[in-house]
Amino acid sequence: MIYFEFLSVYMEICSAKRFNFAKKMFDFIIVGLGIAGWSFVRQLQENKRSFVVFDTSAENSTLASAGVFNPVILKRFTLAWKAAEYLPYALLQYKKYELENTGHQFIYDLPIYRKLTSVAEQNEWSSVSGRPVFEKYMNGISHEHLPGIESPFGFGVMKNTGMIDVNLLLSVLRKQLKKQNLLRENRFDYKRVRFVKNHIEYEGLKAKYIVFTEGFGLKKNPFFGHLPLMGTKGESILVKLSKPVNMIIKSNIFLAPLPGTGLHMAGATYNWTDKSLTPTSEARIHLAEKLQKLYHEPFEIVGQKAGIRPTVKDRRPLLGRHGEYENLFVFNGLGTRGVILAPRLAKMLFEHIVFDIPLPEKVDIKRFG
Ligand SMILES: Cc1cc2nc3c(=O)[nH]c(=O)nc-3n(C[C@H](O)[C@H](O)[C@H](O)COP(=O)(O)OP(=O)(O)OC[C@H]3O[C@@H](n4cnc5c(N)ncnc54)[C@H](O)[C@@H]3O)c2cc1C
Repeated sequence: MIYFEFLSVYMEICSAKRFNFAKKMFDFIIVGLGIAGWSFVRQLQENKRSFVVFDTSAENSTLASAGVFNPVILKRFTLAWKAAEYLPYALLQYKKYELENTGHQFIYDLPIYRKLTSVAEQNEWSSVSGRPVFEKYMNGISHEHLPGIESPFGFGVMKNTGMIDVNLLLSVLRKQLKKQNLLRENRFDYKRVRFVKNHIEYEGLKAKYIVFTEGFGLKKNPFFGHLPLMGTKGESILVKLSKPVNMIIKSNIFLAPLPGTGLHMAGATYNWTDKSLTPTSEARIHLAEKLQKLYHEPFEIVGQKAGIRPTVKDRRPLLGRHGEYENLFVFNGLGTRGVILAPRLAKMLFEHIVFDIPLPEKVDIKRFG
């Protein structure tokens, strides 16, 4: 028994030495590198705090997403929660990162063309788009001819919308962190966390705080797994269109050009029961049928993606401190609009941890007792 304990401690020390971390006290350990992890790391870099990131990237919802930013819920013509308020800060953060990484483009400004299907929908578009809250995002109706898409009632056109190349965004940060030896590409093992006075030890690492940005992976986290994260599986197909369209089309599915690939993403499904990450043939067939109804030219399916959106019972993010272990924090529940919400929420959480600024009640996990 003693031998095994000795062996385990020895292995931890070796692992820490390999990373040159043995003596250093880090400010933060971050677990998970999706858009939440990216946004929190950016706060740490801007505020010159030290950190190490753990990420498997195996269950990454951000990489399955299209990265579209659009604050308006087009089904109901309402603004998504805080989306219009948080979007400018998100775009600022992505822009700053673009400027720091010359040669990379992360932001693509693209209009969304919402296919209108009746005179009633045309009238609704015209009246809603004139309201002050929507003016910034909704333009008039276009009767443009788009290749392969018939729309006798035209398209409601959106502005100040677009896509973030989330794949590139995460891969650039991963590369930088790897170079600096700040990324561990393995699963964080909760059982190995030790609480020592006012800091934490993990496999020979010392840190003041751990922030869990694990997306749906949070379900397996013994510290925060009790939170009401439901998870909504989403699947999309990657297609090669015979006649590409250069804007995002929204009908009963969306069709979005994927930057720099010549491909389009068509999606997405919403499944509240299946919590696996396996792409299914049902979803592929379902999406292909919907795409055929929208796009009347030939297309080829070249791939499929699946991810679990970290959705919450009350549709609000999950941020805050653990009730018992004061050094542990969670940043989750970004739902269907991670690209817009994550940067601003990351700033709030950072300021909460470091400057003790209270979190808004709506996002604080204290609301669940
Ligand atoms: C099909 C689909 C389309 C979408 N489209 C959009 C869109 O257009 N626009 C938009 O804003 N949002 C979209 N979303 C939602 C968006 O993807 C999520 O809001 C967002 O990605 C959640 O980010 P996250 O960082 O919280 O989690 P994730 O991106 O899932 O990242 C969590 C990371 O933590 C890692 N991890 C978990 N546990 C551990 C552990 N113990 N140790 C180490 N690593 C761990 C995971 O492997 C993963 O890499 C879409 C989602 C889906 C599924």
